Amino acid sequence: MSENEKSLWESYSSPLGDRKVSVCRTINRMFPRMLLGFLWGVSALAAKNDSAQHSQPPLLLVSFDGFRADYLQRFPMPNLKLLYSQGVLVDQLTNVFITKTFPNHYSLVTGLYAESHGILASSMYDPISHKHFSIRNDSDPMWWSAAQPLWLTALDSGYKTAAVMWPGSDVTNRTPTHYFPYNSDMTFQQRLGNVTNWILGDEKEPGVMFAALYWEEPDRSGHLFGPENTTAMTKVLKEVDDNIGLLMYELKRTGLWGHINLIVTSDHGMAQCSADRLIRLDDCLHPDNYTLVDLTPVAALIPKEDTESVFSLLSKCHPHMTAYTKKSIPDRLHYRNHVRVQPIILIADEGWTIVKRGNKLPRLDMIDDRMTPLDPVEEFMSVCQQRETSALSPRPASHGVRVVEKGCSKSCAFIWPVTSQEVRSYPVSWLCRK
Ligand SMILES: [Zn+2]
Repeated sequence: MSENEKSLWESYSSPLGDRKVSVCRTINRMFPRMLLGFLWGVSALAAKNDSAQHSQPPLLLVSFDGFRADYLQRFPMPNLKLLYSQGVLVDQLTNVFITKTFPNHYSLVTGLYAESHGILASSMYDPISHKHFSIRNDSDPMWWSAAQPLWLTALDSGYKTAAVMWPGSDVTNRTPTHYFPYNSDMTFQQRLGNVTNWILGDEKEPGVMFAALYWEEPDRSGHLFGPENTTAMTKVLKEVDDNIGLLMYELKRTGLWGHINLIVTSDHGMAQCSADRLIRLDDCLHPDNYTLVDLTPVAALIPKEDTESVFSLLSKCHPHMTAYTKKSIPDRLHYRNHVRVQPIILIADEGWTIVKRGNKLPRLDMIDDRMTPLDPVEEFMSVCQQRETSALSPRPASHGVRVVEKGCSKSCAFIWPVTSQEVRSYPVSWLCRK
């Protein structure tokens, strides 16, 4: 390790305030050499840190909501680059349809498309139970029970598990060993501190083997200011990157670094919308003719009477909106075979927003804090830290949804092939070990 690389690494041992300044400044100057230097650095550190309690490495899955893939090129992100320089950067993942937080987070922990796990949107209506789902009213297990998230699978295998604010993790009778209900006031540092304590365990309770950690940025700022707002996104992505620095620092401080599998990922990207690109449903259809279940960028409608005539009006409504009856939804979307998929769905082109009426974009704070008035694009980034640093091979993800990349360590392979809607494939080698 060169002197420069050593000083970069040592900056993670210094108090937090010093660390932030030193890392950002050093990496900007040093990045090309750092890519090589840290592969060695992690191995050496892993060999030194024999204090971790687990004979098998636990898995920590961290999601930064709405992290668009090109943020990595547009913004400095020195800590994230430092992290993946020691592991694997997946070039691109394809999220499941629809590009919303809840469906995609549940796909990440179940390996299933939305039509199979049943969390189809942020707002849903179930025609059998006649219940309504929203992200503020989501704890009824009925909505979630078609699939088993990793924290339950691992619990069934005899492991302790944890989740901090991951969608679905606070559902009645379906919780991991440790969890927190959603609370936006809880800082990333507080969430992380609990996670590392749970992974470490204590005399009374063994550490958890699977933990999932959710953070709502940069999604929240992307909604408020737009992903093309360089000033706002620079600020929030600096905070996100600082949190990744904090994550690395905390793992090192607790002795978990080098003894843990870490996946940093996201659920969807985001596209810039504009009040100049609105699609008004009232221009095409009288509001008495339908019930609206969800809105933009994918709207879900229940026609009051004749589905075909409502569909006919909507299909000619706007050149930047495509209407589908339920049975005509394309196979590639994997979004047809569920009772909660409504009789008509409308898909706006990227950058366009569906509204009922008016000339304004819906505002985030007038809807809800994890809904999507700006519509996301179908790509996001995933980073995986390898425990073993040999044979790195970054590559694009294949079709479908999975937490990706073979070889996160000898003991966990994250390829979840989804060759049909019913296939569910977990990181078997990890789950099968006791
Ligand atoms: Zn999201």
